[in-house]
Amino acid sequence: MNARVFLVLLLVAPLSFFMECTALSAQEPGEENWYKGNLHTHSLWSDGNDFPEMISKWYADRGYHFLALTDHNILSRGEKWMPVQTVENRGGKDALSNYQASFGDRVELRTADNGKMEVRLQPLDSYRGQLERPGKFLLMVGEEISDSVDGLPVHMNATNLTGLLRPVGGKTVREAMSNNLRAAIEQSRTSGQQILIHLNHPNFGWAITAEDMAFVTTERFFEVYNGHPGVNQLGNADHPPVERMWDIANTLRLDRLKKAPLFGLATDDSHNYHDSTGSTPGRGWVMVRANALTPDDILTSINAGDFYASSGVVLDRVEFDATTKTLQVEVDPEASEEYTIQFIGTLKDYDRTSKVREDAENKEIRATRIYSPDIGKVLKTVQGRQATYQLSGQEIFVRAVITSTAAHSNPSFAGQKKQAWTQPVGWESQIE
Ligand SMILES: [Zn+2]
Ligand SMILES: [Zn+2]
Repeated sequence: MNARVFLVLLLVAPLSFFMECTALSAQEPGEENWYKGNLHTHSLWSDGNDFPEMISKWYADRGYHFLALTDHNILSRGEKWMPVQTVENRGGKDALSNYQASFGDRVELRTADNGKMEVRLQPLDSYRGQLERPGKFLLMVGEEISDSVDGLPVHMNATNLTGLLRPVGGKTVREAMSNNLRAAIEQSRTSGQQILIHLNHPNFGWAITAEDMAFVTTERFFEVYNGHPGVNQLGNADHPPVERMWDIANTLRLDRLKKAPLFGLATDDSHNYHDSTGSTPGRGWVMVRANALTPDDILTSINAGDFYASSGVVLDRVEFDATTKTLQVEVDPEASEEYTIQFIGTLKDYDRTSKVREDAENKEIRATRIYSPDIGKVLKTVQGRQATYQLSGQEIFVRAVITSTAAHSNPSFAGQKKQAWTQPVGWESQIE
């Protein structure tokens, strides 16, 4: 399908399209192409601490199939030089020599007018030919549109864009989200090229509430897991964990707004590549079932919800049979690990009451409201490597989360276990 037609379909007729895609995604095991990718990565082009070629090589060497470098409000295009001193301040004394050891013939140095040595940050088009491998490794154009409203960070990643998208702003967080989405959709319409726009780390700076996520219905994607240690993945006393925000937002969308749900991605949001501290790579990724390793095929599958998010658990099978209304999950097990598979959803008779959060002086806090535990409740738990959930017809949606007994090898929060999150299913009859 041509990208333009696809996007129009996505905007105009999501119901029929998503139903069709869910049904079409049923394939025999072994015939599927699963591609592993990270869609949130920073380099020296903004506030990361390594060269884009080094970062790309890091991911390619570890079996990733695709990567988007998503620097803040900049595309890696054109000419950009950086003082070597800045590189060393960020990445340590060896950052440049390591780069020269790996990409020696490509490294460009010059002496600036002030007598200081500078190194060129290479644009994507100059190095992609050296790193990309057909069917094996793909670099996608990306940007983290880094907006803010009253000091609250509103960050959204755009993948596969054709030109820089400057933050548009807005009077409220929701307006800024909508405005940035509109700009991206407009660029996609004009260029005919699909763009994936996903909302980043909602709890970073406590900027985005579950209601914000629910009501900006042009957004279909967000980060259910972001590997940066500073993004408040687990929430706090006044803010729910990101995973619960997902269920609240999707319940509001499907039950009250009659709009399609958000799909969840896992990403690294990596900035630090030289030691084990900070926001290091490899913590979270998406697995996408696609026809081929091209930007268009990857985004078509993500748009259709044919992917899952992972922080370490790999699945052999994730299938929703729309006819029998059965969600089936099978883990690709690691030796000595056991798994808990939970099916999480909201039932149609859930308690719809909610209340605002208040501080000690009974003043309303800007935070997600307090909702009943009926929202996003555990509908079934299976200990083992495979599990099936048969929908009764009472579910607004159901999704699966798989948790290993093994600790995450490089946790972003204390006590983190390896996990995988599948997309919500069974919701099509809820939307207009
Ligand atoms: Zn961000
Ligand atoms: Zn980021």
